[in-house]
Amino acid sequence: MATKTVYEDCDILVVGGGMGGTGAAYEARYWGRDMKIIVAEKANIDRSGAVAQGLYAINCYMGTQWGENNPEDHVLYARNDLMGLVREDLAFDMARHVDSAVHKFEEWGLPFMKSAETGRYLREGKWQIMIHGESFKPIVADAARKSADKIYNRIMVTHLLMDEAQDNRVAGAVGFNCRTGDFHVFRAKAVIVAAGGASHIFKPRSVGEGMGRTWYAPWSSGSAYALSIQAGAKMTQMENRIVLARFKDGYGPVGAYFLHLKTYTQNAYGNEYETTWYEDTKEMVGEYIDHHPTPTCLRNHAFIQEVKAGRGPIYMVTKEAFQDPHLEEVGWENFLGMTVSQAVVWASQDIDPKYTNPELTTSEPYVMGSHATCSGAWCSGPEDLSPEEYFWGYNRMMTVDGLFGAGDAVGGTAHAFSSGSFTEGRLAAKAAVKYVKDLKAENINVTDKQVSDFKEEIYQPLENYKVGRNEIVSGTVSPSYLLPIQGLQRLEKAMDEYVGGTSVNYMTNDKLLERGIELLDIMEEDFEHLGAEDLHQLMRAWELKHRLLTSQSVAQHTLFREETRWPGYYYRGDHMKLDDENWHCLTLSRRDPETREWHMEKAPVYHIVD
Ligand SMILES: Cc1cc2nc3c(=O)[nH]c(=O)nc-3n(C[C@H](O)[C@H](O)[C@H](O)COP(=O)(O)OP(=O)(O)OC[C@H]3O[C@@H](n4cnc5c(N)ncnc54)[C@H](O)[C@@H]3O)c2cc1C
Repeated sequence: MATKTVYEDCDILVVGGGMGGTGAAYEARYWGRDMKIIVAEKANIDRSGAVAQGLYAINCYMGTQWGENNPEDHVLYARNDLMGLVREDLAFDMARHVDSAVHKFEEWGLPFMKSAETGRYLREGKWQIMIHGESFKPIVADAARKSADKIYNRIMVTHLLMDEAQDNRVAGAVGFNCRTGDFHVFRAKAVIVAAGGASHIFKPRSVGEGMGRTWYAPWSSGSAYALSIQAGAKMTQMENRIVLARFKDGYGPVGAYFLHLKTYTQNAYGNEYETTWYEDTKEMVGEYIDHHPTPTCLRNHAFIQEVKAGRGPIYMVTKEAFQDPHLEEVGWENFLGMTVSQAVVWASQDIDPKYTNPELTTSEPYVMGSHATCSGAWCSGPEDLSPEEYFWGYNRMMTVDGLFGAGDAVGGTAHAFSSGSFTEGRLAAKAAVKYVKDLKAENINVTDKQVSDFKEEIYQPLENYKVGRNEIVSGTVSPSYLLPIQGLQRLEKAMDEYVGGTSVNYMTNDKLLERGIELLDIMEEDFEHLGAEDLHQLMRAWELKHRLLTSQSVAQHTLFREETRWPGYYYRGDHMKLDDENWHCLTLSRRDPETREWHMEKAPVYHIVD
C-alpha cells in the first residue's frame, strides 16, 4: 500500500482530545499566544472519549465561592476513598482550580440545574452538581477547536518520537489516519498525553452480542499508559484498577439514584447486607472500615461477599422513589443524558423500575486515573506544594522531559472526573508552554530512520494479513496471523483468570500473577503476527498492543504490592490483609525501553493536608 506521509511541526502536541485534551488545547493558547498548538485525536473530538455520550452530573466541583467545600476537603475525601494513598499535591492543585473550569463550561453554554431555593448549582451530592449534559463534549470541543491551530481527527497515535540529541526527551508522536491510511509525523517541542483510560483489558461480563457494552468507554484502549511506558516514563499505582457496582447489563450509573433519588440496595431476600460484613472487613483493613464515607472498594467488598454467600442478586430498591413522578422522571433522564443503553436494556428485559427493583452487578476491572482510582504516570507536582520527591521542574511533567499528562493519564489524582480532567489539561498546558518558553526543547533531533522504522512497524499488520490470507484454511483460521479480536480475547482471558477478574471473584496471588506475566510476555511475541484486513482493523491491532502493555504494567504492579489494599477491587490471596506498616506507600514502575525489563520501587506518601 502506497502511504502518504504528512509532517506537522509544532510547539505543543496534545494527544487525545477528550476532557483533558480539550482543556489542554484551550489553556495552551492562553499562555502560548504565538505557539503552534496541534491536537491529534483517534475519533472526532465532538464526540470522543468517556464523555462522548454526555453526562448528567459534574462530579468534581468545590463550590468554594459559596463556602461549600475547600480544596483541603477534597484531598481528605480522595485520600479516604483510596485507602490512604493519593498524590495529595496533585489532588490539591486540581481542586483549587476546578471551580474556574466549571464556570467556563457554564459560560460556554452548558446548561446547569439550579437550586430553586439558593439559585446555586443543584447538588446531587457533596461534590457533584447536576447538568443537562448531553452536549457537554461538543461544548468543550468547540473551545479546543477555537484555540488550537489544527485538530487532526481520526489519527490513532501509536508511538511517541524521542529526541536523538538528548537522552530521555520527547520529540513528538507518530500515528496513522484510520480513514485515509496516511502516516502522520508530529514533531513537537512538548507533548501532552491525554488519551484516556483502559477498558477491555479484563474479560467483560458482557459477551457475544453485548461484548461492546462495558462501563468504561470501549474505545479507551490504554493508549495514555502504553505511549508513556514505551517512552520509558515511570508509572504509579497501576495495580489500583477499579471495579464499579452498576445496574446490570447496561452498566447504568447509580450516583444520582443513591444521592438524589435516595434509593438503596438490598440482597435477594430483601435484607440490608453491608453491616453483615463489617467484622470481616475490619479484620482485613482495620479502622479504614470506620471511615466516612465508606471507601468505594469496601462497599464493593460487602457486595461481592454477599453474592458469594449465595444471597444475590443485589437489588436497587427503586419501587419506592419511583412512585414520586418527579423522581421517576429524574431516574429516566439520568440515563438519557448519559447511558441511553441502560433504558434500552430495561425496556428489552421488561423491567420498569417503578414496579420491579432492578439488579446491580460488580463490573470487570478498568484502569483509569480520574475516578475512584488513580493509576497513571508519575508526574511532577506544582512548585509551591510538592515535596522534593514529587517535584522536578514542571507541573504534570512525567519522568520523560517535555512529556506531560492530563486526566486518566496522570497517576495519583483520584476523583478528578470530567471537570478535574479538563482542569488537569489546563495545568499541564500552562506548564508545557513554560517548558517551551524556557528553551528546554531546543535542538531536538529526530532522524529519518526513527520515523521510517516506526512507519514500517505500524503498517506491518496489513502486510501480515495480505501475505497470510493466502494460507487461510477455513473462515478466519489462519496459520500465520492472529486477528485483533482473537488477540483481544486471549488477553482478556489471561487478565481475568490470572490478574483478578470477575470469573475468579477478583482474586489473585503471586503464583497466578507470575504465570499471568509469562502468558502476557508470550502474547507480546505473538502479537508481532497480528493481521489487519483494513484500516479499521489496523486501529484495532494497535489498540490491542496498547492494551497489552497496560496489562503488563497492571500485572507487574499487582505482583509488587504484597497486600490487599483495596478489597472489592482485587484480592491478593497470599496477603489477604491491608499492611500499612510495609505498604503505606505508592508503587512505581519503569519499563526499560531497550531491554523491556520492569523495575519496581516504592515512593513515599506525603499527607500535606491535616
Ligand atoms: C461511564 C462513565 C461515567 C462517568 N460519569 C461521570 C460523571 O457523571 N461525572 C463526571 O464528572 N465524570 C464522569 N466520568 C469520568 C470522566 O468521563 C473522565 O474522568 C474523563 O473523561 C477523563 O478524561 P480524559 O481526558 O483522561 O479521557 P477521555 O475524556 O476519555 O479522553 C481521551 C481521548 O483520547 C482519545 N484517544 C485514545 N487513544 C488515542 C490514541 N491512541 N491516539 C489519539 N487519541 C486517542 C480518545 O478518543 C478520547 O477522545 C464518567 C466516565 C465514564 C466512563
